[in-house]
Amino acid sequence: MNFIDGLNMKLAAALLVGLAGAALAVGGCGGQGSSAAVAVEWGYSGPGAPENWASLSEEYAACAEGRRQSPVDIVGYRAGAAGPLSFAYGSAAPSVRRDAAFTHVEYAPGNVFTDGQRSFQLKSAHLHAPSEHRIDGLSFAAEMHLVHEDDEGGLAVVGLMYNLGAPNPVVQAVLDAAPEPGGSVAGGNALAAVSYVPDEGGYYRYEGSKTTPPCSEPVVWYVMKEALTVSPEQVDGLQALSGGPTNRPLQPLNGRGITVYSSAAPCSGKFRLGSGSPHTCGGCCCRLGPVG
Ligand SMILES: [Zn+2]
Repeated sequence: MNFIDGLNMKLAAALLVGLAGAALAVGGCGGQGSSAAVAVEWGYSGPGAPENWASLSEEYAACAEGRRQSPVDIVGYRAGAAGPLSFAYGSAAPSVRRDAAFTHVEYAPGNVFTDGQRSFQLKSAHLHAPSEHRIDGLSFAAEMHLVHEDDEGGLAVVGLMYNLGAPNPVVQAVLDAAPEPGGSVAGGNALAAVSYVPDEGGYYRYEGSKTTPPCSEPVVWYVMKEALTVSPEQVDGLQALSGGPTNRPLQPLNGRGITVYSSAAPCSGKFRLGSGSPHTCGGCCCRLGPVG
């Protein structure tokens, strides 16, 4: 054995130790993970860290080669033709599933998100801590991703930002519901989709990607302007569930434009929809459920 071979063996041994300790992570922004065998699972540290995602599987090539990747710093935005969003959300979550990186709150069809042109069904929700997107260079303590899909498989993700402050009841409901890693439990009313609906309708829109492997493009992103609050203890709780921070580094805009929509009027309460009754949303967001 020469010196180089010995060095290689040490490197190989170190790599194996690293692999054994690597966080296993599937899912994330709409992904159900890859069915193909992957030697190293992606995560946020160690051999599976974001800078290595594209080298872990051919299916992850877009993580390095994509030109419309997420997250981004939301800067240089302009008012555009975008209109108000509609969240016709209502139902409770049938299940809560946990993998190595995220706790996914999963929804059956019936919670519809519309951007004025296209309609999507809410599939799942999960939280990153700290935030993945920045707005004018500013990071947030946490970011919720509401993952939607349309009939053709098109993806739309709504991002909700959280500043440090008062505890958030929805975040607490996610923390309370989280099962053991790899497990799944019933969701229930504490995680009814209606609880995500923002009170104000302003948002930023751009075309990006999943922020987790396979980093698929395109994903239409709607990052809400209104920031909610989350307590430091809740941020600690989210990171404890994930084994550390879960934010992919910022990706270049590559000339992409970002549209900003400022709500004409803030939503002052809940709107009762459904039952065939006509409804208006007042230029902001809609809620499905009891008024008040
Ligand atoms: Zn996400």
